[in-house]
This record gives sequence, C-alpha cells and structure tokens, in this order.
Amino acid sequence: MHKHHTSEDGYKYKPDYKWPDLGTIKNCPRCNDELELIENKDSYFGKPWWCAPCQWQFSEEDLATLEEKPDDEK
Ligand SMILES: [Zn+2]
Repeated sequence: MHKHHTSEDGYKYKPDYKWPDLGTIKNCPRCNDELELIENKDSYFGKPWWCAPCQWQFSEEDLATLEEKPDDEK
C-alpha cells in the first residue's frame, strides 16, 4: 500500500531555519551594519537575515557560530 509522495502541486522543500521574532535587531558579524530581517513567507526559501552591503544571508545558526569568535583577535 504505497502512496507516492510526489510534489506536483507546487510544494517545494523549505529549509527549516529557525526564524527570529519580528523586531529582533542584529548586526552583521562581517561589516557590523544592521541586518535586515526577512519576512518568513512561504515563497521565500532563503535565510532570515540579510546584509545588503555584504550581499550575504545569515541564519541564526550562522550568527551563533560567527559570534563565538572572540572580539580581540589580534
Ligand atoms: Zn555585512
């Protein structure tokens, strides 16, 4: 009794990123500019944070990893 799991109705796999609460402010770990929090729409498949100057997306996991670096790396 197999049922085929085809996805022909336009369903696409959406990565399961942890989404921050709206209104959360974070700064880019690269350039320290304020990150833009993208709205979590069904049509959006990227990561929640966007840095326009860097042209780069960050997930919460990315930020957590990057923020682990000590500030005083000389
Ligand atoms: Zn940046």
